[in-house]
Amino acid sequence: MLPVTRVLAPNPGVYTLEGTNTWIVGREPSIVIDPGPDIPGHLDDVARQARPVGAVLVTHDHPDHAPGALPFAQQVGSPVYAFRLAGAEELRAGQRVRAGTLDLTAIHTPGHTSDHMAFFEPGSGTLFTGDAVVGRGTTFIDPPDGDLVQYLRSLKRMAELGPRTIYPGHGPVVLRAQERILEYLAHREERETQVLSALAGGPRTIAEMVGAIYADQPKDVHPLAARSVLAHLLKLADEGRAECTGKTEDGPWAAATPRTCQRCGRLVRAKARYCNSCSLAMLQAEG
Ligand SMILES: [Zn+2]
Ligand SMILES: [Zn+2]
Repeated sequence: MLPVTRVLAPNPGVYTLEGTNTWIVGREPSIVIDPGPDIPGHLDDVARQARPVGAVLVTHDHPDHAPGALPFAQQVGSPVYAFRLAGAEELRAGQRVRAGTLDLTAIHTPGHTSDHMAFFEPGSGTLFTGDAVVGRGTTFIDPPDGDLVQYLRSLKRMAELGPRTIYPGHGPVVLRAQERILEYLAHREERETQVLSALAGGPRTIAEMVGAIYADQPKDVHPLAARSVLAHLLKLADEGRAECTGKTEDGPWAAATPRTCQRCGRLVRAKARYCNSCSLAMLQAEG
């Protein structure tokens, strides 16, 4: 059994549920994932339970996960690794971080943010997911650092690992890990269908779509929902299936027919005239 201990940071909220989960993995030495915000009382609690600490890892640079990392690492005398955090050692995709017999692999999982990392322990099938998968509800995708196309790819990447247990950045531990990831994929597909059927009735602004799709939800989630609908529209625009006809990203948005390459007839991204391989072939022919 991989020993894992949670220390809950005292920062409850709309995005953070009960607060940020700081995970202490293994012991003597341990690896600490996401020290959370820079709250001295919380960092002291983590230090007391985690010492000695071999490494500090950060899933992503949001204020509820990262600001405590450097002060905590200094307090316990350990290196800190992150994909994007000033003062931390740079963590690369696929990099392994070891402490004692513990060996975690960093899995680049962009989508919630572009720097997002999950951490995997293959022996036990344990996956630390930060905000890529949370214990309750869904992950918030806020463009442009949040990107739904990348996020869906990251979910599939995490499913391929065949995780057994998910230790999320917020909320309870997820015991049916694989099932939860598949639910997340299904949920996004369902939302996409709702956005497409809204557009099928004619051009719509994001506010109109949110009003229709989130009609049964309290009004105070609508600003979040608007960002999520925008994330879907940007994905559909990238695929040539929707286009923004307004001056700002609020729309109105309209359904579009995907374009085909004028040279080979394959589908092309967004507003391109030729597919990538035809563009390249033509460039090379020009010499
Ligand atoms: Zn986050
Ligand atoms: Zn978070």
